[in-house]
Amino acid sequence: MAMVEMRNVHKWFGALHVLNNINLDVEKGEVVVIIGPSGSGKSTLIRTINALEPIQKGTIVVDGLDITKPRNVDEVRKEVGMVFQSFNLFPHMTVLENITLAPRIVRKWPREKAEQIALELLERVDIADQAEKYPAQLSGGQQQRVAIARALAMQPKIMLFDEPTSALDPEMVGEVLDAMKELAKSSMTMLVVTHEMGFAREVADRVIFMDMGEIIEEGEPDQVFSHPRHERTQAFLARIL
Ligand code: ADP
Ligand code: MG
Repeated sequence: MAMVEMRNVHKWFGALHVLNNINLDVEKGEVVVIIGPSGSGKSTLIRTINALEPIQKGTIVVDGLDITKPRNVDEVRKEVGMVFQSFNLFPHMTVLENITLAPRIVRKWPREKAEQIALELLERVDIADQAEKYPAQLSGGQQQRVAIARALAMQPKIMLFDEPTSALDPEMVGEVLDAMKELAKSSMTMLVVTHEMGFAREVADRVIFMDMGEIIEEGEPDQVFSHPRHERTQAFLARIL
């Protein structure tokens, strides 16, 4: 069974058909990168996976749970970590408090356990020394690594990333991508929207090209980047590479 199974998924915003018959499986341990022009539905697609966006047609099953059923939504959200372009850390909480909040409330872990795991995660993303700081005292790259640690603290089964490096100064992109590469090596299931083609080539098992709400083409990175089959993929890559 795949970690994510999207079948004939359609979504409209009013008259706008933003997801048009999406069929997508993400296998356990797989790293899938989604590329495509602005407005093609990438963010909407990944937001449907933890029910941040409802769909009007089709089914989405995450780790065996149909998330179009309202009773499954809370359960699925516990298993799905999400990292956005903007870091969304709570400004009035320290790094450690940001990371331990959800596990303490949702998983009901005692403080000691939550803090121990938080510190291990901060070690993993290479900022263990920042635990007592507030978000504003950190660089953008550090804040985004805290956001990754915060998502991981819930011990998710899949991690969704929506352009996690797009808001960063160029010199900080590498440190966040490095943290994501480490995560990929630990065989986390990952679905990543990014324009970082180097990352996609190195880390992705599969690259998906979306345009106008549809999956136009997918394949191994080398196939999609070096030998795109579809004219629209070729045109997109010519613009960004
Ligand atoms: P991408 O992430 O590929 O840039 P999005 O998924 O953000 O694309 O957007 C897909 C389309 O849906 C765009 O035309 C966008 O303007 C529209 N859209 C996104 N969110 C909303 C919303 N909340 N209400 C209405 N339209 C939206
Ligand atoms: Mg987007």
